[in-house]
Amino acid sequence: MKAPTSSADRYALVGHPVDHSRSPLIHRLFARQTGANMTYELIDALPEQFEVAVRGFKAAGGKGLNITVPHKERAYHFANTCNEAARQAQAANTLTFTTGGAVADNTDGVGLIRDLTVNLGVTLENKRVLILGAGGAARGIICPLLGAGIRQLTVANRTMSRAVQLKKLLGDYASFDICAFDELGDVPAQDLLINATSAGVRGEELPFPASLFGADAFCYDLSYSMRDTPFVELARRHGAAAAVQGWGMLVEQAAESFYIWRGVRPDTEEIRSKISR
Ligand code: NAP
Repeated sequence: MKAPTSSADRYALVGHPVDHSRSPLIHRLFARQTGANMTYELIDALPEQFEVAVRGFKAAGGKGLNITVPHKERAYHFANTCNEAARQAQAANTLTFTTGGAVADNTDGVGLIRDLTVNLGVTLENKRVLILGAGGAARGIICPLLGAGIRQLTVANRTMSRAVQLKKLLGDYASFDICAFDELGDVPAQDLLINATSAGVRGEELPFPASLFGADAFCYDLSYSMRDTPFVELARRHGAAAAVQGWGMLVEQAAESFYIWRGVRPDTEEIRSKISR
């Protein structure tokens, strides 16, 4: 690939923190593969700096942004228009700048579903699914999972009030049960367990009972690491059928953003194998 020229289209990730993000590498590989003349930067912005950072990037000619913790809800409200996935999640991980302003998208759900069904061969139809966590990532995946034909969905969270709030927020679009982590011992065996918490990243004990990890349970951790994540470790220790980290989702949601911005869908296979090494 040629190096980006001075007329390269500019994209970036906004979040806090962003210094360990793999998104610049992923988009660089997409650009190389598709011959796109573009750059991808990191913008570290505190919550109170978000709007100024986004406006500044757009005013300097930026074409689009990815959005990560803690700005996904802000990004949704910042945009003038949004697509269906962002509306349902009321959160955005992708902004595309137009002459009219900014369009919000949410590609987390597409990314997860594609990794599960296309890359990992998981069938979602008729499955009982438990999502652990009710934060920004959970918001983005609930409606796409229900749309993929699962039989039943439960969302559990440490802070019950946040789960109640999420159910109220998505109520028009999604039907699911909620419970607190201390009720997880009563949850029946699930086909698919999705960890959408950031629990364990600071070395703390995971608050999930062994009974969750039945021998038929497919466990998917949205978090990813160069080593096994604490959730993957726990699922393996308790004998789950499979335990996978979220690298594939990371690449697939990025590919969907790239497609929204550039109209070209990158081939993710080569990139998935490169970035988790
Ligand atoms: P978030 O909005 O900050 O939400 C964090 C969630 O984790 C909340 O449900 C929170 O519960 C829970 N949590 C945090 N610490 C906990 C602990 N010690 N014990 C129990 N629960 C705890 O973050 P997010 O955007 O949803 O992201 C969650 C994870 O998904 C992150 O690790 C992120 O990197 C990952 N992610 C991956 C992808 C991908 O493409 N693979 C995409 C998006 C996100 P409370 O409500 O009780 O605080």
